[in-house]
Amino acid sequence: MYDLIVVGGGLAGITATIYAARRRLNVLLVSKTLGGKTNYRMLLPPEEPPLLLEGQEIIEGLKAELERLDFIHYKDYVTRVSRHRDGFAVHTEEEAVLLGKSVIIATGVKHQRMHVPGEDKYLMRGLSYSALRYAPHMGDRVVAIIGSGKLAVRAAAEIALTARQVYLVGVEAREMESPLGIKVKGANNVTILENYQVLELQGDEYARRIVVSAPDGSQMEVSAGVFFVEIAVIPNSQLVVGLVDVDPGGHIRIDERGRTNVPGICAAGDVTNTYMEQVLVAAGGGVKAALSAYAYLLPGL
Ligand SMILES: Cc1cc2nc3c(=O)[nH]c(=O)nc-3n(C[C@H](O)[C@H](O)[C@H](O)COP(=O)(O)OP(=O)(O)OC[C@H]3O[C@@H](n4cnc5c(N)ncnc54)[C@H](O)[C@@H]3O)c2cc1C
Repeated sequence: MYDLIVVGGGLAGITATIYAARRRLNVLLVSKTLGGKTNYRMLLPPEEPPLLLEGQEIIEGLKAELERLDFIHYKDYVTRVSRHRDGFAVHTEEEAVLLGKSVIIATGVKHQRMHVPGEDKYLMRGLSYSALRYAPHMGDRVVAIIGSGKLAVRAAAEIALTARQVYLVGVEAREMESPLGIKVKGANNVTILENYQVLELQGDEYARRIVVSAPDGSQMEVSAGVFFVEIAVIPNSQLVVGLVDVDPGGHIRIDERGRTNVPGICAAGDVTNTYMEQVLVAAGGGVKAALSAYAYLLPGL
């Protein structure tokens, strides 16, 4: 039986594994790949200045450190976590049952798709799902933000501070009555296409425009340099639903130490109800979860 099983190889899972291995815990990391979302880079047309992922050196340093440490990397996908005697059983897609005295869930979130033609082709080629991360780097760009709810309005508010022109596409009328919506309406570089629907993404090697339909059924094209989809995320928490508490959005509820309501199960990163999906927040969450798992195990070590 392992002291600790970490599920998920993103930043949160990586820092959790590093800190557990440093404490000499017998740790197993279960994830098909390492790096999680930090492996995604949005490519833009050559005429657009490139977008940088913040904290890149830190990510590379952490991955290098992980490789030097003593832990086992099991490349599989976890379908379920259940109680097993004094610990937990981690069930995988390939039907392995891995036993641990404690578990950290660091499985991140899925971004909801629009399911329109061109979306797969242009994913990360001018189209991305995380406008807020890029908000500080929008200088002089034309940006289209697609989404109906609060996330889209918030993204438009922040991007409008730096971009030359912002199109907010598909937002619902009632969202525009919120204090942030009213602020966005007042910005002179934002064009709001309320209740419009995206029909298709078009371009060459990169996304260049979207075809949208207006509420009256007429169609038009919106050209931009960067396209962001801002629809609510889906936390990858299905593997522990029914075992640990999750909030109405499916995020795993944790306390300030990264502990769930089940002693021995901690969680970290985007899958939790922590404030903000950011690399450094996820990295710090992994550290806290590992130290909490260590504190939980200490009496029996
Ligand atoms: C395009 C993009 C750009 C971004 N840019 C920035 C930026 O510039 N600055 C910033 O601070 N943040 C940025 N972010 C956000 C940041 O990347 C995330 O907040 C952070 O990486 C989350 O780390 P995580 O470990 O919680 O989750 P993830 O990175 O999502 O990792 C989750 C891991 O769990 C694995 N996994 C999922 N389910 C299972 C399962 N059932 N069994 C086993 N393994 C599983 C996945 O394969 C993955 O390895 C960006 C995000 C995106 C999508």
